[in-house]
Amino acid sequence: MLQLWEPGYWVWPMHMPLPGAGSPSQSSRGMRSREIWLEVIEAAKLHYRPTGSLHLAYQDDESAVAAEFAEVAPGQGYQCEWLNKEQVLQRSAGVCPTHLRGGLWSPVEFTVDPRQVIAQLPIFLRERYAVQFLYDAPVRDIDPPLLDVDGTRWEAGNIIICGGDDSKTLYPELFRQSEITCCKLQMMRTVPQPNAWTLGPSLAAGLTFRFYPHSRSAQPSPSSRNESRVRCVTMTDV
Ligand SMILES: Cc1cc2nc3c(=O)[nH]c(=O)nc-3n(C[C@H](O)[C@H](O)[C@H](O)COP(=O)(O)OP(=O)(O)OC[C@H]3O[C@@H](n4cnc5c(N)ncnc54)[C@H](O)[C@@H]3O)c2cc1C
Repeated sequence: MLQLWEPGYWVWPMHMPLPGAGSPSQSSRGMRSREIWLEVIEAAKLHYRPTGSLHLAYQDDESAVAAEFAEVAPGQGYQCEWLNKEQVLQRSAGVCPTHLRGGLWSPVEFTVDPRQVIAQLPIFLRERYAVQFLYDAPVRDIDPPLLDVDGTRWEAGNIIICGGDDSKTLYPELFRQSEITCCKLQMMRTVPQPNAWTLGPSLAAGLTFRFYPHSRSAQPSPSSRNESRVRCVTMTDV
């Protein structure tokens, strides 16, 4: 495993596997990805919390979309359920109740500790499968079976490229021709909360309804789409 950066104590983005964000085929891929995560986490004896998730609705159009989604989605393979305000507040002590209409509950998400996973998984893979990790090893060029790793020539039977956000460095021309655009997602970390308080279910709200395509299958009315867009613009402006 050749890696550009040595892992440090940054926030590991994969803290909440999100099965089923998209079409039915994406949903089954998401669930398969979840199975793999669980298999690896359990084999590596890492900690995870089966927290589930709540997508919260604070506006009428959001609750309309979420409730409608909860009606049609189980038939498309999604496990979810619409909860009213009281039911949401019973499930999570972290939800702001003001203007809360209700929420979409999903039991399938789980939460891992990013720092633990990013530090421990390479150790597990090394011990169990003799995977050799090389950090600070930028791959400059690939011409199978050869790789140029920062001036050193490597030969490999199989080369699997998982360049992620850095793919355009290795293949700038292909990247330019693709329809992929880059976007940025930020994450903040709180200090430990008093009395070992934990969040419980992962929480998301209105902007997530617009961002992830799974809510589109509920086909909200044009007016609710417009209202939602207006709110997004307002929040971006703020
Ligand atoms: C803030 C944030 C929060 C997120 N939260 C979640 C979440 O809760 N749940 C979820 O499911 N997903 C989440 N994601 C998305 C998830 O992190 C990505 O989808 C996932 O990490 C993509 O994995 P990948 O292996 O394709 O790419 P990456 O994780 O980007 O891995 C690619 C690796 O290849 C290395 N690399 C690239 N080019 C080279 C080269 N030339 N030579 C050597 N090494 C190279 C990079 O350094 C990097 O380590 C989040 C993303 C962000 C940014």
